[in-house]
Amino acid sequence: MPSFLTHRARVHDAGLPLHRRHSALRTCLTVFAPYGLRATYHHLTLSAAIPRRLEADPDALVRAAEELHEARELWLVRADQYAEQRRAEKHAGRRAVPNPRPWWLRNWWESPDRAWFEDPSRHPSLCLSEYVRRQNAILDGTEPPGCPACGDEGPPVLRSTGHGGVELCRGCAWLLTPCPCGQLHRFVPETPFNWNEIWQRAHMSDDGRPNSLWPAR
Ligand SMILES: [Zn+2]
Ligand SMILES: [Zn+2]
Repeated sequence: MPSFLTHRARVHDAGLPLHRRHSALRTCLTVFAPYGLRATYHHLTLSAAIPRRLEADPDALVRAAEELHEARELWLVRADQYAEQRRAEKHAGRRAVPNPRPWWLRNWWESPDRAWFEDPSRHPSLCLSEYVRRQNAILDGTEPPGCPACGDEGPPVLRSTGHGGVELCRGCAWLLTPCPCGQLHRFVPETPFNWNEIWQRAHMSDDGRPNSLWPAR
């Protein structure tokens, strides 16, 4: 398991070539990515304004690594508490994992955030530590208003599954109401995407703003 802090330090290391610092950021994302690796990367390109050409603003990589680091610190505290609680439960003879599972132990294919894995541009616009705080609060039993993931209180988007329908958050495509058939269906992106283009930040300009010419369709 790569060490998050080692790779975070590489992102910061101005003596390294930019492509190495960029790939260190990716390694950090393999360790911790609250929206999933691709969607978290996409989020960070926007929130940290990572330009298409890294040379245009090398500090953007540091901003991205720090947003991720801050969220991870919050998560670590909660994950430690959870591990402690599970140890006590097991000790008391309760071995089964309580439902719902904590947000970081969900499988993406059975999770309401599945869309973020199938379309990296769909994810909450919350900064990562705000998202982690919100998920931790839900785990502790609070029920914040709006979409559980992003807080959007607007009407859901209805999507047909052919034999029924699902309701998705209009903000982040979180699954608010599953299909009546009980199956969990794939989320098909409205605009087909090419991950390599996203990774190379084709969706960003050199000034760190979204590229209005992309996707070129
Ligand atoms: Zn949402
Ligand atoms: Zn169905």
